[in-house]
Amino acid sequence: MTVNNVPLLDLNAQYEPMKDDIIQTMTEVFNSKRFINGPKVDELETKMADYCGAKYAIAVSSGTDALIVSLMALEIGAGDEVITTPFTFFATAGCIARVGAKPVFVDIDPETFNIDSKQIEAKITPKTKAIMPVHLFGQMADMDPILSIAQKHNLYVIEDAAQAIGSTYYSHNLKVEKKAGSMGTIGCFSFFPSKNLGACGDAGAVTTNDEALAKKIKALRMHGESQRYYHDYIGGNFRIDALQAALLLVKLPYLEAQHKGRIANAKYYDINLANLVQTPKIHTGCKTIYNQYTIRTQKRDQLLKHLQDQKIGCAVYYPVCLHEQKCFAYLGYKPGDFPASEKAAQEVLALPVYAELTNEQKAYVVAGIKSFFA
Ligand SMILES: *Cc1c(COP(=O)(O)O)cnc(C)c1O
Repeated sequence: MTVNNVPLLDLNAQYEPMKDDIIQTMTEVFNSKRFINGPKVDELETKMADYCGAKYAIAVSSGTDALIVSLMALEIGAGDEVITTPFTFFATAGCIARVGAKPVFVDIDPETFNIDSKQIEAKITPKTKAIMPVHLFGQMADMDPILSIAQKHNLYVIEDAAQAIGSTYYSHNLKVEKKAGSMGTIGCFSFFPSKNLGACGDAGAVTTNDEALAKKIKALRMHGESQRYYHDYIGGNFRIDALQAALLLVKLPYLEAQHKGRIANAKYYDINLANLVQTPKIHTGCKTIYNQYTIRTQKRDQLLKHLQDQKIGCAVYYPVCLHEQKCFAYLGYKPGDFPASEKAAQEVLALPVYAELTNEQKAYVVAGIKSFFA
């Protein structure tokens, strides 16, 4: 069959081999009537901690809530500052503001799209409580210098690992390869359906190596209860549905193979697009899971339209930097404050990279890009 369109993401292809197991596990949950917490959630937490190389994992209601509950657990709020990147999904900085703290932006390294660790120290003030690096598109931020700076200034590090489950970073300081969510004080994950490990609705998780923090996050997830109706903290309802946990347990064993498929697809694009656009630059020692395969070109808008005309799914993550968002006008930033981020926002384009892409589909994407530049 000749290919005449390629979606940006095709969840049908992903679900097909798992369908029977999913229906069976859903039936089990319905039969048990344990819709909140219970054995599926406990099992997911054990497996998630194990997969991420962290001591503890706490499953929560979304990636956004993972960030919120982490900030709450670290008692970050009014009067505090948190350093992060302006080139990320809104939730990263939105959550910092929602707990009453001030997001302080630092520009990105244009090669990796991640926070430029060399520019962090200049933004530290006596109010700074934490650094929140984002592992954008799957590639981990440069954690060695970030952790050294955090240690020197006594700051927490909250990894926004929403796009990076299973990504790794070789730490020269520790002389060991580390997984996303295992290096900082806390790691935050999202199981939004388009993430590499996607639920059938909203869900997320928090990882940490700190036992006391893990306990506190578990309490905060249930309105701060230490035991039923005894509230040590003012928490919220950040619980995950048992149905989501059950689904994620079925999908988790497929995750490594899916990462491999994405990495192979990325390699194909790397080779075939190298002379046309800037392909992703992955730093030595890093393994990305390619939540997005993001190219750069100065003719981005025209290329986007050309690909859309040929029904090739593509998207701009993200067209507007966070310091230029209306809701953050009160922070007082202006256009030009973060030139690398602003340039990226004008040049990036994400291509279909999901594991189940066929050779014909990949060839169609490459041909579409070649015909634009011809
Ligand atoms: C998806 C995402 C989030 C939020 O996760 P949700 O599960 O959608 O709430 C946060 N940060 C980044 C970088 C993300 O990509």
